[in-house]
Amino acid sequence: MTDTLIVGGGTAGCVLAARLSEDPAHAVRVLEAGRVRLDPAAFPEALRDATRMPLDPNAAWLWRYPTILSADSDSAEGAHDAYDPVLGELVRGRVLGGSSAVNGSYFGRARAADFAAWDDIAGGPGWDFGTVLDAYRRSECDKDFGDRPGHGRTGPIPVIRSAHPAPISRAVAAAAHSLGLPEREDLNAVPGDGPQTGVARVPCNVDRGLRIGTATAYLLPAAHRPNLRVDGGATVSRVLVRHGRAVGVEYRRDDVTETAWADHIVLCAGAVETAALLLRSGIGPASLPAGTGIPLVHPAPVGQWFTDHPEIGLEYRVGAEPGEKPPATVPLEYVVDLDDIELRPYTVEFTPGIRRLGVALMRPHSWGVLRLSSGDPAARPVIAHRYLSEAADRTRLLEAAALAEELLSRIPGARLLTRVPPATHPRAVVWLRERLGTSQHLSGTCRMGAAHDERAVVDHGLRVHGVRGLSVVDMSVPPVPLSRGPQASAVMIAERAADLPR
Ligand SMILES: Cc1cc2nc3c(=O)[nH]c(=O)nc-3n(C[C@H](O)[C@H](O)[C@H](O)COP(=O)(O)OP(=O)(O)OC[C@H]3O[C@@H](n4cnc5c(N)ncnc54)[C@H](O)[C@@H]3O)c2cc1C
Repeated sequence: MTDTLIVGGGTAGCVLAARLSEDPAHAVRVLEAGRVRLDPAAFPEALRDATRMPLDPNAAWLWRYPTILSADSDSAEGAHDAYDPVLGELVRGRVLGGSSAVNGSYFGRARAADFAAWDDIAGGPGWDFGTVLDAYRRSECDKDFGDRPGHGRTGPIPVIRSAHPAPISRAVAAAAHSLGLPEREDLNAVPGDGPQTGVARVPCNVDRGLRIGTATAYLLPAAHRPNLRVDGGATVSRVLVRHGRAVGVEYRRDDVTETAWADHIVLCAGAVETAALLLRSGIGPASLPAGTGIPLVHPAPVGQWFTDHPEIGLEYRVGAEPGEKPPATVPLEYVVDLDDIELRPYTVEFTPGIRRLGVALMRPHSWGVLRLSSGDPAARPVIAHRYLSEAADRTRLLEAAALAEELLSRIPGARLLTRVPPATHPRAVVWLRERLGTSQHLSGTCRMGAAHDERAVVDHGLRVHGVRGLSVVDMSVPPVPLSRGPQASAVMIAERAADLPR
């Protein structure tokens, strides 16, 4: 009998499996839908190379989902011209390490203010900044600032900032300085240790050019333990609930349906698949679509209030880039951090000869919805981001885009390929929609909160309200938008989960 069955060996799942199996008396089993390689040298080069994201359209290591980033009605107030929906694509890692195996390696912590908001609605202790800081520290080995307050030097994840940024990164940093924005030496600095906004080198989970996701950092060193079993190619289709208690899961491997039983089931399948799994198991809104044929087991607002960071892509050209040209080390070496906005000068070209400055809203007010269209486990969930549905988000993105335009005007030879319209311009929303993309940071499909909170799915101990023996430990649970990329926070949540009483 397995003590803890972890569904999904992704960013959080690998951390949790490694931490729980430190106790030799605790039997841990991981079911991962993607391929499991237990030898780091067997990882394909594309997954190891931190300079690029391995998002090839035919890559076997990705989940892909169509999404409606913004529907016609989302950004409409009163009379307007009909808009076509803005369609997008969401990707996630489908491989041991999950999205940490394919992402941009930006390892930034969320801010103290995010946890003040989280702690307020968690419904119990354990999510204030002081407590989560211990978990962030435990995860990292910060090669640059490990000895500073609030940092760690002995954790599994190496954190480093580019020592020789590419010319484009340096040019954007210089332009930001000329706008009066301070240099932030350490983006992960705790409050009181230097400026909390400004232009900063991106902390990255990279070692000598290699992406170090949680499979490499946490799970592989633990894989030899006799009390840890990791099965790849095992796609869980639903959780089995008997008399209000989760007792096992049904999964498919090699076209065969199997069942695994456990004392405690932890969903670490990521914000999309964890929500889809709960819905397929009958844990969801009382109005679960009738056409799915799924009987309601327990009502819960799964998938109802997710958030993600919308990003506007500003395309520009530069003339000859001055100075010597060290190759870029990661897709994003510098970020201009304005608290609720990130300006992202990508080092990679999405179109040959054209550069992109991303303008991302880090505390959006708009929220999205995920639901099932069918009970078939192979069917993709229907995802609607509902970006730009709040007027405050549209206004703030336009203001930030205007600042980005000003910043680019200060880079010698740079030419923005558009003009940013004033917020009052009749076509300003159309302009935003034409450049709208996603940061791939979807979170909050199974939010944390007290039992009486109509938006809450899990309690402060990460347990699903109303179903015993079932927890969620991944990016599904944050009840507020975190104002940084989620990777480091997914690791932190799993480190916190390993601390919690079982
Ligand atoms: C292309 C891309 C770039 C990104 N860049 C950054 C970045 O630079 N910095 C940053 O902070 N964030 C970034 N993110 C976001 C960040 O990587 C994720 O939010 C975070 O890693 C999610 O962690 P997770 O544990 O919730 O889920 P995941 O890491 O996605 O893990 C989920 C795991 O569960 C498995 N799984 C799913 N369903 C099932 C099932 N039914 N049965 C069995 N297994 C299942 C999956 O295969 C996967 O391994 C990026 C994301 C993407 C996709």
